[in-house]
Amino acid sequence: MTRLAGIIGHPVAHSLSPVFQGAAFAQCGLDVRYEAWDTTADALAGRVVSLRDPKYLGANVTIPHKETVIPLLDELGGQSARVGAVNTIVNREGRLYGFNTDGSGFVVALRNEAQFDVAGKAVLLLGAGGAARGIAFALAEARVASIGFWNRTPERAARLAADVARDGAPVHTVSNLDTAGYDCIVNCTSVGMHGGGAEGQAPCDFAAARPTALAVDIVYRPEETPFLRAASAAGLATLGGLPMLIYQGALAFELWTGVRAPVEAMFEAARNALKGERRR
Ligand code: NAP
Repeated sequence: MTRLAGIIGHPVAHSLSPVFQGAAFAQCGLDVRYEAWDTTADALAGRVVSLRDPKYLGANVTIPHKETVIPLLDELGGQSARVGAVNTIVNREGRLYGFNTDGSGFVVALRNEAQFDVAGKAVLLLGAGGAARGIAFALAEARVASIGFWNRTPERAARLAADVARDGAPVHTVSNLDTAGYDCIVNCTSVGMHGGGAEGQAPCDFAAARPTALAVDIVYRPEETPFLRAASAAGLATLGGLPMLIYQGALAFELWTGVRAPVEAMFEAARNALKGERRR
């Protein structure tokens, strides 16, 4: 029996997940079809119930359903309860388990693709939306030395910092955006994102940043953002958003299948798709 997995969101037409998850299943010789399931809020409950059927391995969940899907699941695993968001659902004999692999995918991406271990490091997070939330809890779990939170709307940064502090992580909020004194500076805002309101802009400058710092942008369209260009120009090492996307997907793939994810094949498929978009 061909089994099914897919991404639940609205809209999902531009998601890269079908491209690289499809490549992963093919590379591993698994008879699984991965689909894009455009699902409005009204249709979410029905879509999630359908996943209990044995033919479904599970699903990924993206905007705008990562929080609202939680009451529809049977159990939450990993950090998803603390984060308050689920990006992966696993169907185990009709019971639905929710996980959040966004933050752990971020930490693994830094380790594997930038040779950067976050343990003991001072990290500055720009943004306090859903992605920043997942990353902040994963950084706390990975035992960073400290997390500085900056957000355009300061109240959201303060709220996130307070939530993460409850996990015992040393945190502080930053009101005047200054990149001095950090080992790693992460853009979790949508500034610079293709098609967004702040396309072509960078959320900060790197004039005072440590030259040894790593700058990470989680925005992956375009692959080279103004934030990354500014960081490179200041001599910093950089990492774009594609590795986080691939590793959150790789961790989801491993939860569904128990098989090691073929990360190289996933990168290749995603990069080819992004190249195709640029040509269009
Ligand atoms: P979100 O929940 O909507 O949060 C958006 C964040 O961006 C908020 O902190 C918001 O600040 C900030 N922001 C938006 N416009 C801004 C501007 N003009 N100036 C300064 N700050 C601004 O979105 P999200 O889900 O966290 O996603 C954020 C970005 O990460 C998106 O570009 C998304 O594509 C990317 N992402 C990448 C991955 C990956 O795997 N690489 C995963 C998830 C998300 P306010 O609170 O002030 O509104």
